[in-house]
Amino acid sequence: MLDSRIEKDIRDLIPELIALRRDLHMHPELGNCELRTTERVRAFLDGHGVKAEYIDKENRLGLQYLLDSGKPGDTVLLRGDMDALPIQEPEGLSFRSQVPGVMHACGHDLNTCFVTGCAIALTKNRDLLKGKVKFIWQCAEEILQGAKNAIEKGVLDGIEPRFCFGFHGYSDNPAGKIGIRQGNCLAASDTLHITVKGRGGHAAAPHQTTDPVVISAHVILAIQTLAARYHRPWDPLVITIGMVHGGTACNITPESVELTGTMRTFDEELRAQLPALLKQTCRAQARAFGGDCEVRVEQLCPSIVVSQECFEAAGKALKEGIGEEHIAYPDYPTMGSEDFAFFTQRYPGMQIQVGTASDDPRSQGPFHDPAITFNEDSIYWGVMAGCSLAAGIC
Ligand SMILES: [Zn+2]
Ligand SMILES: [Zn+2]
Repeated sequence: MLDSRIEKDIRDLIPELIALRRDLHMHPELGNCELRTTERVRAFLDGHGVKAEYIDKENRLGLQYLLDSGKPGDTVLLRGDMDALPIQEPEGLSFRSQVPGVMHACGHDLNTCFVTGCAIALTKNRDLLKGKVKFIWQCAEEILQGAKNAIEKGVLDGIEPRFCFGFHGYSDNPAGKIGIRQGNCLAASDTLHITVKGRGGHAAAPHQTTDPVVISAHVILAIQTLAARYHRPWDPLVITIGMVHGGTACNITPESVELTGTMRTFDEELRAQLPALLKQTCRAQARAFGGDCEVRVEQLCPSIVVSQECFEAAGKALKEGIGEEHIAYPDYPTMGSEDFAFFTQRYPGMQIQVGTASDDPRSQGPFHDPAITFNEDSIYWGVMAGCSLAAGIC
């Protein structure tokens, strides 16, 4: 098990971490607006002798801290994210969000506490460590920008992490279970923008128009056929058109229709092929009916695919630190995405899935649901897992 001195320090810290989490929950901030959150965490760390620095010094956003044990060894990176979502929290909790229309519905208030607890407990016990531990409190994960920005601001400069670990709550597992997985874990996410062009006119005179609404129906179906028929079935691919915008009245055929969708992949080769394929497929459909099509793919973030070496090292450290009975091995990936992928693109790494469910059915539902609740026992287990990884691997 994890050294008893570290374990005791974690246990003693939990009431304060729960209070911090509730304070962050009451004052959620959207991506790139985490000024109060950054300041609150910085002051909390400072009160425990941990001197974190801003990632974005100019805007005082995000925090980083390098713990050097002074002994030779590897570097491990631990990252939590801090932003909230544009969701109205329903009434219920005593520490419900005080900000109208903003809520920590993805549990980043907890993720922040996992990494904060690790930084404090490991700093206090640095004599038990080898190597270095880099801590990152990242902004703007939900808009898939924060990780990229943090790397551009230099959070990886001067270090070469052997492994990077991104901490995230997970409602599929109860508190007390830490999930790790090898291979495909989180998908790449890209946005698809399609403009279907026709010729507008009177809805009662279709022979005088080129109807982009009907063409859009063909385009949407052709995309689904491409997703189902084109690629190797064992390389997952999801293309969902989530927005269809066109027209102003039932008796007017519009000039154009806008389709917007999301694409999820794991295989980089497939991901790279998609823009050209989609252009070809959508244009062929539109031209078959006398219209035309513009297709643009916006690349957002890569996938997280975990190497055997990283999986085995994390599994061993967790087994030693928290015990096999507290590890879960999810048997399928998620097609969801995480901008932590920008870290794992540079250095091997994985997401550490910290179980947040309790007996309350609301805690077992999907994240981003306004009704979600989180089991605060997960804070102890998240910090235990982070400390076990740092102490076991460095
Ligand atoms: Zn989220
Ligand atoms: Zn999240």
